[in-house]
Amino acid sequence: MGRQRVPRTACAAGGLLRASRAARPGLEGASQMLARLARRIAALLPASAEDLLHRVAGRLRSLRYAGSRYRCPCCGGGFARMLSWDPSDPDDDNRMCPRCHSQSRHRLLLTYLERETGLFSQEVRLLHFAPERFLARIFRSRPGILYVPVDLEMSRVSARVDVTSLGFREACFDAIVCNHVLEHVPDDEAAIRELCRVLAPGGWAVVMAPVDHDRAETLEDPSVRDPMERRRLFGQSDHVRVYGRDYIDRLNRAEWAASELHYADELDPGLRESLALMEREYIYLARKPPAPPVA
Ligand SMILES: [Zn+2]
Repeated sequence: MGRQRVPRTACAAGGLLRASRAARPGLEGASQMLARLARRIAALLPASAEDLLHRVAGRLRSLRYAGSRYRCPCCGGGFARMLSWDPSDPDDDNRMCPRCHSQSRHRLLLTYLERETGLFSQEVRLLHFAPERFLARIFRSRPGILYVPVDLEMSRVSARVDVTSLGFREACFDAIVCNHVLEHVPDDEAAIRELCRVLAPGGWAVVMAPVDHDRAETLEDPSVRDPMERRRLFGQSDHVRVYGRDYIDRLNRAEWAASELHYADELDPGLRESLALMEREYIYLARKPPAPPVA
């Protein structure tokens, strides 16, 4: 049987570390050593100092790639080329920012949020599950955003919570960003219901996950526990399924309306190219209906 091609991607929780390891063969040198040292020191420091060190490490790491062909909205950097997330995989077409390690989906999402939502211009209560560092930095810096980063395992979050049981009261967030989480969660239906529960009427949630668009139905098998077998079947050793085109149907089991946005197709081709977007990079957005008017 031939090698199965399934989406492979650095997920939000721990993605930075995995990405660094994967990129190591092409990045050895003094700047990498300094960057690794900075990360070790950063773990011992307050959050603000840690963030500063990460930014310094990113700048050092990306010096050799400086240029103007590509632009990363997540860190503001300009680069002559982007990096492969997995240099050992000849089919890997994901393009990672040399400075902040954002991937195609992050740059597309941030462009969408900036242009198409009121996130950066209104008062918004935002829940961010498994917060990506570079997005968290942006969200946290905006005075209009009441920002609540959470995760089950990560440090530097407001609360450690399970996505299937968040512990927040009903309808207390106007917006949710929860990306590349559900493929790790055995009971993803419970997670989807829980995200919908804490979302206020009229609110929106971005719930992205790796989707194999060549597959009609999601492949999952809870009996598969072996990491190598999970990697072979689901694309990554800690994934419990690989979603097919029915991902949107699964999202729509909750009381919201989810849709697959082909937003990259709406962008100017020059901008699309400069953001280094992957083919078939889609945004999954769910909107909760507004509350009915009071009689
Ligand atoms: Zn970047």
